[in-house]
Amino acid sequence: MTKLLPTSTAGSLPKPIWLAEPEKLWSDWKLSGDALLEAKQDALLVALQTQLNAGIDIISDGEQTRQHFVTTFIENLNGVDFNQRKVVRIRNRYEASVPSVIHAVSRPKSIFVDDAKFLRKHTDKVIKWALPGPMTMIDTLYDGHYKSREKLAWEFAKILNEEALELEAAGVDIIQFDEPAFNVFFDEVNDWGVAALERAAEGLKCETAVHICYGYGIKANTDWKKTLGSEWRQYEEAFPKLQQSSIDIISLECQNSHVPMDLLELIRGKKVMLGAIDVATHEIETPEQVAATLRRALQFVDADKLYPCTNCGMAPLPRQVATDKLYALAQGADIVRKELLSP
Ligand SMILES: [Zn+2]
Repeated sequence: MTKLLPTSTAGSLPKPIWLAEPEKLWSDWKLSGDALLEAKQDALLVALQTQLNAGIDIISDGEQTRQHFVTTFIENLNGVDFNQRKVVRIRNRYEASVPSVIHAVSRPKSIFVDDAKFLRKHTDKVIKWALPGPMTMIDTLYDGHYKSREKLAWEFAKILNEEALELEAAGVDIIQFDEPAFNVFFDEVNDWGVAALERAAEGLKCETAVHICYGYGIKANTDWKKTLGSEWRQYEEAFPKLQQSSIDIISLECQNSHVPMDLLELIRGKKVMLGAIDVATHEIETPEQVAATLRRALQFVDADKLYPCTNCGMAPLPRQVATDKLYALAQGADIVRKELLSP
């Protein structure tokens, strides 16, 4: 990016009320068949225009065509049975009924490539596409086949790589892997998590990012955050390995969080998508609050590597709240950009 402090979102935006029930994860579609396909594309265009209106620089699809950032990807794979469900603990935090891996996993056809082509056709801006990361994928499944988290993650990494290479060919500029699980399974992150992530990104010539967060603003996550104490040092565990990795950009949350800003020192040299918008509150940040967070980050990140972003996806927020937050993000970045450019 030639523009200083280019803004983006972590990925998801609320869906319009005519597409799916709002303020809910795994919300059911309100249409089906061709009508649903057309409605998803319309929603994608609305998400694009909303970001453009707000002044966001790096555009996402708002994840309008997927029900959930992990589930929708897995639904399109062979080897996973959605009828054989088991209860597991997700990110060691909350119980959920999840599908089972019953035989070798594979990707029979591309999953988001048509959607990415559709977005590419409608904007000349830099576009970013989010995929789930291998470790986060295995954490939302029961594995009755490989019986090894590492082996299954490696198989998913290969599948993600196939999809990522096709997304790149479709004109995506930045491919992001969402790995909230990196904030939970520290030993696995260092043993094989970062290696699996690099496998997923292998051979990509476009930029790559990993998004690590404390989750959507849903109750299971906000309850968990209350147990983390006054200083959140989770990033400290994965950052040294990520600093050494092939991944270009690290996306993390810093607005209203208890993450000590000096942890950014551990990823010096990487580009940082810095969460300056809290997704766990309906309160809209003022541009000045956003600017203050960015200024603090600039103590540890070179200005040309700082990418203002949201803490996480905004799918569960009321639509107007999410839109207002996009404006606050763009305006806050603008304040600091002017300061940096003024002699
Ligand atoms: Zn997130």
